[in-house]
Amino acid sequence: IETMETHSFDVLVLGSGGAGLRAAVEAASGGGLSVAVIGKSLLGKAHTVMAEGGAAASIGNVDSLDSWQTHFYDTMKSGHYINNFRTVEVFAKEAAARVLELEQWGAVFDRTPEGLIMQRAFGGHSFRRLAHIGDRTGMELLRTLQYKAISMDISIFQEVTITRLLMDKDRIAGAFGYYRADGHFVVFKAKAVVLATGGWGKVYKVTSNSWESTGDGAAMAYRIGAELQDMEMVQFHPTGMVWPPGVAGLLVTEGVRGEGGILYNSEKERFMLRYDPERQELSTRDVVARSIFKEVQAGRGTPHGGAWLDISHKGADFIKRKLPGMYEQLLTLGDVDITKSPFEVAPTCHYTMGGVKAHAETCATNIPGLFAAGEVACGLHGANRLGGNSLADILVFGRRAGIAARDFAGSRKGEVSIPESQIEEEVTRVLEPFNRPNGENPYTIHEELQAVMSTHAGIVRDQQTLEEGLEKVLKLQERAKNMGAQGGRAYNPGWHAVFDVENMLTLSELIIRGALERKESRGAHWRTDYPDELEEMGKWNFVHEYSPDGDRIKQVPVPTMPPALQEICARPVAPGREASDKPNQRKGASS
Ligand code: FAD
Repeated sequence: IETMETHSFDVLVLGSGGAGLRAAVEAASGGGLSVAVIGKSLLGKAHTVMAEGGAAASIGNVDSLDSWQTHFYDTMKSGHYINNFRTVEVFAKEAAARVLELEQWGAVFDRTPEGLIMQRAFGGHSFRRLAHIGDRTGMELLRTLQYKAISMDISIFQEVTITRLLMDKDRIAGAFGYYRADGHFVVFKAKAVVLATGGWGKVYKVTSNSWESTGDGAAMAYRIGAELQDMEMVQFHPTGMVWPPGVAGLLVTEGVRGEGGILYNSEKERFMLRYDPERQELSTRDVVARSIFKEVQAGRGTPHGGAWLDISHKGADFIKRKLPGMYEQLLTLGDVDITKSPFEVAPTCHYTMGGVKAHAETCATNIPGLFAAGEVACGLHGANRLGGNSLADILVFGRRAGIAARDFAGSRKGEVSIPESQIEEEVTRVLEPFNRPNGENPYTIHEELQAVMSTHAGIVRDQQTLEEGLEKVLKLQERAKNMGAQGGRAYNPGWHAVFDVENMLTLSELIIRGALERKESRGAHWRTDYPDELEEMGKWNFVHEYSPDGDRIKQVPVPTMPPALQEICARPVAPGREASDKPNQRKGASS
């Protein structure tokens, strides 16, 4: 038996993306508590780095009428009112301060001529609201947080995969994992844990998500009894590349439409004028994705089953300045020059709105000591996330989870104790695949799962397809029990894939079960057998609870908005606002 590497921290943050780093910075500030961050990739390379378009915050630099109230309304409306209103309220009120704080920490935003943070238009936002850095916003956000974190007393563990959350009776007590390089095991004891492990877009075949997005955190939390909510809500971003194959799934940022890009069908018709005459290309993602899908179904798709997106009319200088990453990526990886011609796009799985149910103010889950923030958490986005709201989400709720974890750890009495049996069980479990060198190949199971999910629980759904999909996922789960790994623990991605696939199978089942329960169409969830949004259904969130006998789904009432917030939704755009409503801001150097 190997000697187990063991560490003890007051606060353990799982995930080194934007939410995790923001939480760690907050947990460590004030001093006195030990804090660690764990990521399964290298620091600075988390999925957040891919974010392009910007972070939504009602700073009002470009459109001075913008306000937290309008941001609140836009987010509730886009979420089709199954969001937790209090989460949205906290978010809309704090997003601006978090973006301005990031600027103070060194983030180099694009600027207005006056030297303020520049803000761009995005689908579903009533005002130009997205603070951005060209189309590399996530990279700059993560760089800033990374520099901040490494200047503080925070322990950072890179390329460590956590496979299990550990418990001290009913309270969280830490996590078990392995180093990806050599496979040696590690135990982290902790008084409080922040879950910031991101989403699970890798469940689908065509996705904009990075390799890390396998939903480990949500699946692990579910297994220890955390409640998961709105799992049926998966966002398909309307504009993923479809051709050439080398760039299939790659995201074409909404910034392209925000900067004037236009969608056409094969008949050169600007079809969004028909589907949403008011907002056209800047309609919400669910509407644009469905519109492209309908055009293709009606035989007006592009040669490879998508729509044409064209921004070439804006001219090469403008495109290279406003969308440099997009221009370079598509030219280098796909030989597509967006300054010269239109290109083919179609919906790609982009974001998971569902996740671990988190308290609106503290991000607390129903497991004492476990907090959830960022894409792994649920409550903010409802049935459809607005572009730009995720980067703001990870800042607002990363910070809040950090504060709450710090407070919880600080007041937790006594030593954290983890029964040896939990660790022994997990060691046995993670070594088991080596007993089956000729077992099922995890990559094959993953590929089959992606095909099932894309066909049976993708952008269009109905009872029969979902039921068939569920049956297939359950069969894959059975086969997955026999997944094997060859070789040893060092540098063995095949072995790592076993755990990723187990997690994705768990969450896929919940996506389908949630989708079967929601007998209506709402936001990203489109059922052809229930094409309308139903008032009665809008009163409920579906919450999943683990039980050894299978998933239990509870129908939980959507919290009712107090009159003041209802009033905002009735009259969203205020005629003006007091100067004192405006967050403090300073002029920065232009970039
Ligand atoms: P992530 O950034 O996904 O970080 C998760 C972390 O958890 C990683 O460090 C990972 O290594 C770690 N982790 C996962 N599992 C384990 C495990 N088992 N053990 C240890 N560590 C683990 N949003 C916007 O608001 N605006 C945009 O313009 C925008 N553009 C986007 C463009 C693209 C191409 C994509 C894919 C997304 C975009 N998004 C955008 C969405 C946004 O980037 C993400 O939702 C957000 O960054 C998620 O941050 P996070 O911190 O919650 O998780």
